[in-house]
Amino acid sequence: MEAAVSACQRTFPAWSELSILNRQQIFLRYQQLIKDNLKELARLITLEQGKTLADAEGDVFRGLQVVEHACSVTSLMLGETLPSLTKDMDTYTFRLPLGVCAGIAPFNFPAMIPLWMFPMAMVCGNTYLMKPSERVPGATMLLARLLQDAGAPDGTLNIIHGQHEAVTFICDHPAIRAISFVGSNQAGEYIYERGSRNGKRVQSNMGAKNHGVVMPDANKENTLNQLVGAAFGAAGQRCMALSTAVLVGEAKDWLPELVAKAKKLRVNAGDQPGADLGPLIKGASLLLDGRDVKVKGFENGNFVGPTILGNVKANMTCYKEEIFGPVLVVLEADTLDDAIEIVNENPYGNGTAIFTTNGATARKYTHLADVGQVGVNVPIPVPLPMFSFTGSRASFRGDTNFYGKQGIHFYTQLKTVTSQWKEEDATLTSPAVVMPT
Ligand code: NAD
Repeated sequence: MEAAVSACQRTFPAWSELSILNRQQIFLRYQQLIKDNLKELARLITLEQGKTLADAEGDVFRGLQVVEHACSVTSLMLGETLPSLTKDMDTYTFRLPLGVCAGIAPFNFPAMIPLWMFPMAMVCGNTYLMKPSERVPGATMLLARLLQDAGAPDGTLNIIHGQHEAVTFICDHPAIRAISFVGSNQAGEYIYERGSRNGKRVQSNMGAKNHGVVMPDANKENTLNQLVGAAFGAAGQRCMALSTAVLVGEAKDWLPELVAKAKKLRVNAGDQPGADLGPLIKGASLLLDGRDVKVKGFENGNFVGPTILGNVKANMTCYKEEIFGPVLVVLEADTLDDAIEIVNENPYGNGTAIFTTNGATARKYTHLADVGQVGVNVPIPVPLPMFSFTGSRASFRGDTNFYGKQGIHFYTQLKTVTSQWKEEDATLTSPAVVMPT
């Protein structure tokens, strides 16, 4: 691990001084290499993580989009100027890289989330220490090799493997200037506190309990299909999975149809054709619904079928804790205001959605739900990379978010230059001891 940080330190001066156009060219080649290797990256993800191949391709694709966006660094990294602040004096700012940055990733998006991290940091001129989840290292290893093939010099991106000790090493190492973390609250709060105490910038995207509020005026067929897809896709192991439905008013009667749609989903190994849900990354005990899924040919697999828990109350453990499996918990509310209260009383504020055909209802919900990402008739509103992935309350710590303009700000620091060039000789005749005004 020390050798990896040393390599980042050693290569930082040359990498940060390389022209920004050269770095841009490397990432332009990189995005093409990711496209060329998309199937192989997806295969590695399915092998290690279990999600279906089609879903794994989406995992790579959403990360690829961040790399494509990083290629516009020449616009994104522009500073500001204000000429003629006073006579013969101009002020301008540069955005400069920080130095060595580090990323700690979760298991659920083995390609996308590492790609939120090192491409944004490196295109700005930082060198990078990446720690993928110990459960899914394969995609990161291939992504690193592809970056090398794209022309990133040896030592600019370094991968370390491990769990707690590797994480603590990153939080404590004095050469590391910034940490990006995505994962659970247990790890994220520890990393945020320890890293911040050591003077580092930390951005920490954490757990979620995402609510889909279903209004009775919503398009029923569309809404139920979206809800089922967003609750059970990737076996519920998405931070933006819509794991909680709040059925408002007459929409309460739609529950039997929701259950019928969920029952139709096909559980199978991720690389089998037609699979809707793959296995979980680890065995889960299903406490409230004992449906016993056996998948032919994979009898010892960690499969859990779609599960729906109805009549859930806010004080139940299944509601308070993130389950991170194919489980949809369903609450009921009489009015939109009641639904908003439910959403805002939950500790998490990652994503949410409202399903409605009424613009005023949608607008009210968008403004009042204290949640980072809001979808209006969109069940998993993960922002595209020209925007930023945000989060509120227990779902995020820090103040600068992942990717988009915020990502550039996180990985750079401002330098403000004030310069004076006088045409005529205006030599000071005595020391200027008064604060300049
Ligand atoms: P995790 O916290 O178990 O692991 C994430 C990383 O932290 C791994 O690299 C792991 O090695 C390390 N780690 C794990 N436990 C640790 C500990 N006690 N101390 C120090 N380091 C530790 O998370 P996971 O199970 O891999 O991922 C699932 C979680 O990630 C869910 O809570 C999900 O909501 C969250 N997530 C959030 C977002 C988001 O953007 N908000 C995106 C994806 C996943």
